[in-house]
Amino acid sequence: MAAAANAPDLRSASLEELGVLVERMGEKPFRARQLFRWIHHKGAGSMEEMTDLPRPFRERLSRDTRLTTLAVDAVQRSSDGTRKYRLRTEDGKFIEAVYMPEEPGPDAFDPEADDEDEPGRKRARRTLCVSTQVGCAMGCGFCMTATMGLVRNLTAGEIADQVYRVNADLRDVPGVDPQRPLTNLVYMGMGEPLHNYVNVKRSLDLLLHPEGANFSHRHVTVSTSGLVPNIQRLGEETRVKLAVSLNATTDEQRARLMPVDKKWNIAALIDACRKFPMKYGRRITFEYVLLKDVNDTDADARRLADLLAGLPAKVNLIPYNENPGLEFGDPGAERVQAFRRILEGRGFAAMVRKNRGRDISAACGQLAVAGQKEAPIRLGARA
Ligand code: SAH
Ligand code: SF4
Repeated sequence: MAAAANAPDLRSASLEELGVLVERMGEKPFRARQLFRWIHHKGAGSMEEMTDLPRPFRERLSRDTRLTTLAVDAVQRSSDGTRKYRLRTEDGKFIEAVYMPEEPGPDAFDPEADDEDEPGRKRARRTLCVSTQVGCAMGCGFCMTATMGLVRNLTAGEIADQVYRVNADLRDVPGVDPQRPLTNLVYMGMGEPLHNYVNVKRSLDLLLHPEGANFSHRHVTVSTSGLVPNIQRLGEETRVKLAVSLNATTDEQRARLMPVDKKWNIAALIDACRKFPMKYGRRITFEYVLLKDVNDTDADARRLADLLAGLPAKVNLIPYNENPGLEFGDPGAERVQAFRRILEGRGFAAMVRKNRGRDISAACGQLAVAGQKEAPIRLGARA
């Protein structure tokens, strides 16, 4: 018998909460850890898979609780190895997660391989970009997700389950370590992570748990458009890395592109970054989407360097991925390189983010809005 939609979700529960539940059901305490490992280490997609749990316990769990699991609605594969997953929530909403594999390479020539925690990184990195909300409330003028508005927050279980569904899909891909298909996570998909702080924090606790997926805090990055109080909270409550979508160098310019600037201006944002705990030689990543004739001049680059002076920062320059219906344009390779050279001349590590999976428009933050309204297009579907 299926549990009601409002039954407690095991996928979102901490190990301690499972302990309480298991005790209430009159089961032995070690069952909590066993459940947690099924859900977060093995990424079980249903309770039926948990074959070493006694049948009556499993039946009771299926009756009184649920295990939120996303359905893989479509997978698009790019020639560069990128895979874009469209996932369906149990209430029929579509979200996306983007898988980006990177081979190990000499750091100096592979900007994406730059990782201050792993100088001379030798291993391949397999990163997943996860969504935190269906839509987004922040209203950035250049972003496709913004056009949806905020539909709802994702639960912690739904955020974590993106990882488990993609892990399951990747396990038999040649060259992928089946024990650890994904090595890195970036919270840069649909939605503003710090606008769904409680569930995002809970998802981090689940995904970084040693009995679960066991990601290292060094390999997890949360990106924000600049919700200042929650930047501080993230710094106090976690050890993950921070990325900030700056995208402009004056408040006049930024407020036009990103309404959040009217609430927390650039000075407040940079101040929060200065106070962010920067242990272990960490740096904050500043994302800067380059928009043709809007924020891409030499003067912008110089102002950006002034703003970041003295901060342990690296800059990710993202040439705009053009969207139908939004009037912004890609400045072109030459302008992008000129912008980069100015930053480097001022001593900043500035990478131009490769446009991953351009043939499938898989850039993070540009995730499909189409599926929400139309009948799902099935591309290489494996529902
Ligand atoms: N809401 C968070 C995380 C998701 S957006 C944030 O804003 O940081 C992830 C990144 O994608 C942001 O840096 C955003 O500026 C960028 N982005 C959004 N739309 C884009 C587009 N069409 N082309 C390039 N980058 C885009
Ligand atoms: Fe939301 Fe980020 Fe898009 Fe802005 S850029 S609308 S914060 S997802």
